[in-house]
Amino acid sequence: MSVVHDYHVHSNYSDGTQMPRMLDAAADAGLRAVGFADHCNVAEREGLQREKREYGINLDRTYPLRREAIESLREQYDLRIFDAVELDYDPRDEGDIVSFLDEADFDYAVGSVHRVAGTNVQRSAPFADLSERERRAFVDDYYERLADLVESELFAVAAHVDLPERTPELRGYTTADHHELVADAFRGSRTVPELNAGRVLRDYGEYHPAPDFRAALRERGVAFVAGSDSHAPDEIRNRKRAFEDHFAEREAEPVQLFD
Ligand SMILES: [Zn+2]
Ligand SMILES: [Zn+2]
Repeated sequence: MSVVHDYHVHSNYSDGTQMPRMLDAAADAGLRAVGFADHCNVAEREGLQREKREYGINLDRTYPLRREAIESLREQYDLRIFDAVELDYDPRDEGDIVSFLDEADFDYAVGSVHRVAGTNVQRSAPFADLSERERRAFVDDYYERLADLVESELFAVAAHVDLPERTPELRGYTTADHHELVADAFRGSRTVPELNAGRVLRDYGEYHPAPDFRAALRERGVAFVAGSDSHAPDEIRNRKRAFEDHFAEREAEPVQLFD
């Protein structure tokens, strides 16, 4: 079973490695298609605007430059290169997201819930002093937002659909009810979840979504695209291998978009 499309890698247009280095690794690993889905946020809220400036992650303004680069790279590599985006989703920003996606006209968009009410799901510090009840309430809100994302149908792909499991302070708060809520939303949506390998070879050691969540999705006939969420060249290689083992063991195959 061969996994030849990777729909979720980052470049230095957000927090990853330069595109030629990522493409060298992808070609080397035997991939046939790679999607650059760099982080992007279009919210007007001041805290997020400041964070963008400070970290230098401004794809909403730099995508035309990245597009020129992708066009010249397409001439040099025997790979299909997608001009994509990993866009932060917050229901408050739906209007801005619609007009940005319309203007930018990416090959496809990956939607992510990285923050709930301004709090980053992937950081430990905000949760360290919270009670169990408060953590549970936060995780409930995360899955409500994720279901909103899926129902919005603004994105071709939904990223790392059980992101709280990545964060030690929130791990274990995801329930079967959350799985069902989100899986039901996927059943009626054009948006496809990804099998995200961002932490499978690291501390967490599991894909997003975790096995029980995957089962709830499969029961509803929902399939996955493969997204390594690589930020560095060696991650592309290693995660492709992990994907192939995963799909081979299950005699399954990932979905391929645009075939
Ligand atoms: Zn993400
Ligand atoms: Zn990512």
